[in-house]
Amino acid sequence: MTANLLDYDLEGLALFCERLGEKRYRAVQLFRWIHQKGAVCFDDMTDLAKSLREKLATTAHLSGLPVISQHLSKDGTIKWLFDVGGGDAVETVFIPEDDRGTLCISSQAGCAVGCRFCSTGHQGFSRNLSTAEILGQLWFAEHFLRKHLHQSERVISNVVMMGMGEPLQNYAALLPALRVMLDDHGYGLSRRRVTVSTSGVVPMLDRLALDCPVALAVSLHAPTDSLRDDLVPLNRKYPLAELLDACNRYLAHAPRDFITFEYCMLDGVNDQIAHAQELVRLVRERAGVGFTCKFNLIPFNPFPASGLIRSSMAQVQLFARILSDAGIVTTIRKTRGDDIDAACGQLAGDVRDRTGVEERITRQRRIAIHHITDVVSADRSQ
Ligand code: SAH
Ligand code: SF4
Repeated sequence: MTANLLDYDLEGLALFCERLGEKRYRAVQLFRWIHQKGAVCFDDMTDLAKSLREKLATTAHLSGLPVISQHLSKDGTIKWLFDVGGGDAVETVFIPEDDRGTLCISSQAGCAVGCRFCSTGHQGFSRNLSTAEILGQLWFAEHFLRKHLHQSERVISNVVMMGMGEPLQNYAALLPALRVMLDDHGYGLSRRRVTVSTSGVVPMLDRLALDCPVALAVSLHAPTDSLRDDLVPLNRKYPLAELLDACNRYLAHAPRDFITFEYCMLDGVNDQIAHAQELVRLVRERAGVGFTCKFNLIPFNPFPASGLIRSSMAQVQLFARILSDAGIVTTIRKTRGDDIDAACGQLAGDVRDRTGVEERITRQRRIAIHHITDVVSADRSQ
């Protein structure tokens, strides 16, 4: 088996080149061809010596992920479903805004954390993605968008690890991927514009702080351990006090001077006035040690098996007001791409049923065709 060069950060590629008897600057050239120019074959890399290209052809390859489907939302959001083999599929979402282009990337096929309000969690865990599979989503999306938007400059300015999976439970593959995102010879993204979102894997938060401190979002969802134990089962292992201490330690390294807490608004479950007041108390307890945070309230995106209901907008606004009045910066997340099921927590790679792989991929393709047809006909009728 030859090596997939999408698996390497620059250091890894330099070691690979060394083993081929090549100098480090060759690795930099190669790395730029792959990530900055989106080259898909070694013959395109015209400033590399022919001898090196020949060596690469026999020892390495560049393999992205096969696209099963692509859905375009009326608001410009694009969702791709990628085939990662063995009947597993993962999703990636591009969200264009006036001043930025954000790519939401998956880190695992399924997720082992099993949060009650999350479609991915309900499907169970299938496997970790490799670095190449994580980066392959960015590599594909960036160069696809540049080509289709006729843009030579960077299209994706922000990456959020908020797709399927718990990134900090796939740390070994995540770390090189983050390094490539930040590398000036790679995607050159600022640390402030790459966000790892986690349900709270405390030991790995400390590792990330030292290895690659990017922006951090922590999925809180509850002000007390008893409620959080139920909504985010990982809380039983790393309860709130430990998680908040880890956030505090992270702040010393973070590229921003605050942590974002995500809070999914579930009708009658965690959205009452008492919950907001409890959250204020929780945050204030930490304020003495210089703790700063922002809240991002996410209206729950329903899916059939959850049995949960989205809070009313009035309740979300009331909740936001209680936090804001207590001096905590609070925003309400705009839902994007909900006409194509691309909103938070709706990403579903259909991983539980491990039989009938071919059939399922065909079915997913069929669903995708329906979606595209819907979007196209909706566009025409406007
Ligand atoms: N595993 C990581 C990152 C992926 S989930 C984490 O949990 O942080 C990204 C965000 O979507 C998290 O804040 C998660 O709580 C939220 N989310 C999951 N399911 C959701 C749903 N059905 N509606 C709204 N937000 C959801
Ligand atoms: Fe996993 Fe995040 Fe979904 Fe929880 S919310 S099940 S941690 S992907």
